[in-house]
Amino acid sequence: MTTNVAHIPKLPEGDWPVFSPGLVWLVGAGPGDPGLMTLHGLNALQQADVIVYDALVDERILDWRKPDSKIEYAGKRGGKPSPKQRNISLRLIELARAGKRVLRLKGGDPFVFGRGGEEAQTLVQAGIAIRITPGISAGIGGLAYAGIPATHRDVNQAVTFLTGHDQTGLTPSAIDWAAIAKGSPVIVMYMAIKHIGQICGNLIEAGRDPSEPVAVVSNATLPTMNVLETSLSAAPADIVEHGVEPPAIVCVGRVALLRQTLDWAAQLAGHQPRSLDPLATGRNLLEDAS
Ligand code: SAH
Repeated sequence: MTTNVAHIPKLPEGDWPVFSPGLVWLVGAGPGDPGLMTLHGLNALQQADVIVYDALVDERILDWRKPDSKIEYAGKRGGKPSPKQRNISLRLIELARAGKRVLRLKGGDPFVFGRGGEEAQTLVQAGIAIRITPGISAGIGGLAYAGIPATHRDVNQAVTFLTGHDQTGLTPSAIDWAAIAKGSPVIVMYMAIKHIGQICGNLIEAGRDPSEPVAVVSNATLPTMNVLETSLSAAPADIVEHGVEPPAIVCVGRVALLRQTLDWAAQLAGHQPRSLDPLATGRNLLEDAS
């Protein structure tokens, strides 16, 4: 890949951290749209010697790196058993010990369902100094691009983030579906497409209304973003029928209805909001701004 120097964005004036040789910085690249990368992330890109990046990192972000830096793809798709994880950590250690400034660039936030915690632990155990830069996680930022707030005062005072896969590739057995169904009005699911039938079934069995709104946001924040609006009982069949593929975030709960009003991307493209008060609260939000 060539780097177009003319397009390397400038950092604002400031006291940016210096990337010393032999360090590993774990950085979140955000869910896709390069504009969601943080300034700390940009600072890291402009100093790193080697960038080890994941499948979900948008490659346009790599154009912002230091021109003589190297890139290494450590791609793996979510949900698959990942024998390579250990190799990735060992590679980071090897590069750091060779005196490189190593940037480990991960999609979304490195500490949210991204194995960033495990990589960081391995590095620290190996005696390598690290720095962590959070990123915008798909479960929050991706929903925002679909016009769905993860919380809304009229809907939920709690939200659960969960993964539809565990290390074995199965639906995690440790998830207490009954507790989540009862206690979490909004459930935001990562890596949930493969086992969506089982997951929706678990939630309905645990007492959730089969007609509860569900939004499935795939390729969130990217030009290819697609949003499927469905319900808990219809989601599995709709996902198949519409050919929805990972990466996708599944949002269960009435916040998904807010998209009818807040689908800002469609509105910027000239569409009218579909509803003025999808939650039917009867509240005039303009008067009640407290
Ligand atoms: N650390 C990442 C999550 C990694 S797990 C984060 O904080 O966002 C990978 C899962 O994240 C995918 O299977 C999908 O569920 C979700 N994901 C990541 N990028 C996404 C995107 N652009 N659109 C929709 N889902 C995304």
